[in-house]
Amino acid sequence: MQFSDFGLDNKIMSTVEHLGFKEPTEIQQQAIPAAMTGHDLIASSKTGSGKTLAFIIPAMQRLLKNRALSKRDPRVVILTPTRELAKQVFTQLRMFTSGSQFKAVLILGGENFNDQVKTLEKDPQFIVATPGRLADHLSQGHFYLNGLELLILDEADRMLDLGFAEQLAQINKAADHRKRQTLMFSATLDHAQVNDFALALLKKPKRIAIGSAHTEHKDITKRFYLCDNLTQKEKLLQHFIAKEDHQQMIIFTATRADTDRLSTLLTEQGLSTVALSGELNQGQRNQIMDGFSKGQQKILITTDLASRGLDLINVSHVINFDMPKHTEEFVHRIGRTGRAGSKGDAISFVGPKDWISFKNVEGFLQQKLTFDTIDGFKAKFKGIKPKKAKVAVKAQDNAKSATQVKKPKAKKIVKKSFLAEDVGDLPVLKRKQAIAPQDIEDSEFEEQN
Ligand code: AMP
Repeated sequence: MQFSDFGLDNKIMSTVEHLGFKEPTEIQQQAIPAAMTGHDLIASSKTGSGKTLAFIIPAMQRLLKNRALSKRDPRVVILTPTRELAKQVFTQLRMFTSGSQFKAVLILGGENFNDQVKTLEKDPQFIVATPGRLADHLSQGHFYLNGLELLILDEADRMLDLGFAEQLAQINKAADHRKRQTLMFSATLDHAQVNDFALALLKKPKRIAIGSAHTEHKDITKRFYLCDNLTQKEKLLQHFIAKEDHQQMIIFTATRADTDRLSTLLTEQGLSTVALSGELNQGQRNQIMDGFSKGQQKILITTDLASRGLDLINVSHVINFDMPKHTEEFVHRIGRTGRAGSKGDAISFVGPKDWISFKNVEGFLQQKLTFDTIDGFKAKFKGIKPKKAKVAVKAQDNAKSATQVKKPKAKKIVKKSFLAEDVGDLPVLKRKQAIAPQDIEDSEFEEQN
């Protein structure tokens, strides 16, 4: 299939040619025509598979071909969970809007509010935004959404995780009319909260799933290493930095404190390193991401702040220094490499504190994951065996010998599999309830004002 088969406007075709894309990716082949027929969509496909253009192209086509419902209101709103991702989507969008009659603006938390009011007064057709800040402007009447034609939610599941359900509902309500089309995209869209939300927001959505988050990403080689403790993880990290033939590398840690500590450690060793964490102001964050994407440093250390969407073509290695709290973030983190057909390596360290996350990832990927070893780095830690079987037998014995079966007691014992004292400070087992953005450790996502 060719881009020309979609019947796209010449302006879109010339931008695609300018970008040098020969043929649409799989998600583009399915999502572009479906979106062009006006369907609501829930679309998922693996990381780095061209999702952004799968929504930008039909959005552009719609604006070029249809008359606006309103002269002043934005016609397309694209929402993303993080500012970094919003900026990246905006950059791709600008390639299509520049030289056209359409104005596109970027509205992010953490940036000057009054400047944004002035920007919104210019009546842009496209808004790319993070949801909290956009909802603030909407509440204050700085723009209206009665004429909105397309609402696009990129990484919708992450926005819900971050507690933006209320803001998304507010934006949805302000644009609640028959002609509105809604598109939801992510690499991971298969959990209950997203489905409930989709039911509320989307009208008879068409579902497009290219592979699934569970299927093997053939361009990314996954390796796992057992570690006893922090010191061993640090040694292993230094080994990989020295021995692996890498271009750029992203190291993911569990907390901001770990990011800072590792950054200091590697910088002291003369390595070209930069740390990205949520407490930095937006200017600093932009500077760091710009520098890293230009190749000014070889190593970026960060938390899940940078796990989604970022398209940095020279990232050959992702290292999970700690396993992620939210299982599906594993897929997004490793998806920072192996993009657009290039090959990548994902290396994960699994210590006692990571064990439950590791098992959850194994369940999520529906694969038996095995551990690799390296000479000189042998861990004593071999994983934690579930105690269920033993405990269940004990409970059965108790039940037999007791004249009265004490059900609550047996239940209490069974609950003890994966005991807290075995693994210390446990990562979250299940998806957390939506948390308010201000509660997010690292305050790494969008500020409210
Ligand atoms: P995305 O999944 O949208 O972040 O895109 C991942 C990468 O694929 C980006 O670098 C895009 O520029 C690139 N890309 C998007 N569409 C195509 C295409 N049809 N052919 C080749 N590369 C593409």
